[in-house]
Amino acid sequence: MPKGIYKHKKLTLKTRKKMSITHLGVKNTKEHNNNISLSHIGIALTKTHRIALSLAHKGNRHTKATRKKISLSLIGNKRSLGSNTLGYKFTQASKIKMSIARKNFLKNPKKHPNWLGGLSFGNYSSKFTIGLKRKIRKRDKNICQLCDKRKYGEELAVHHIDYNKKNCKENNLIALHRRCNTKVNTNRDYWFAYFAYNGEGR
Ligand SMILES: [Zn+2]
Repeated sequence: MPKGIYKHKKLTLKTRKKMSITHLGVKNTKEHNNNISLSHIGIALTKTHRIALSLAHKGNRHTKATRKKISLSLIGNKRSLGSNTLGYKFTQASKIKMSIARKNFLKNPKKHPNWLGGLSFGNYSSKFTIGLKRKIRKRDKNICQLCDKRKYGEELAVHHIDYNKKNCKENNLIALHRRCNTKVNTNRDYWFAYFAYNGEGR
């Protein structure tokens, strides 16, 4: 079949449904899967697509074997911890620029790209008590659920997986280093999906 024959033709919903039914239960060959995977390299998902994926997978659990595989593939991958600046050396000039920007954001936090309308002040549920936080830290054995290391110094922070501070169900709470907690406050869709998948026994 010539390549790109469908390029400008938009399929109707009816046709797409038909195609989806005919493909049900049909397994692609390894080669075909490889081709699909290669054709997707470098193509970023849209935000809506990512949210849809995350919702579609909500509540699904990876098997132990898959989780092991994911975890092994992430070893040494510093980006997987949500920071793309780890190990990166900034020049003196950009350090000064960053420091000025930080000071400006402290004066006017509303200008910060991560500003979400002052959510971090107030809005906590009255159920989010010291006792509950202690319980969560104890359940997580005082191990940070992001980097898997024990607490050092101060107590671990207790994080709301769905970012809803009123949802204080125990399966929505995890213990994190304060540093690690800061990391998960950006890229929220990603971290929500990450902790929702990886939550075993919560
Ligand atoms: Zn940590």
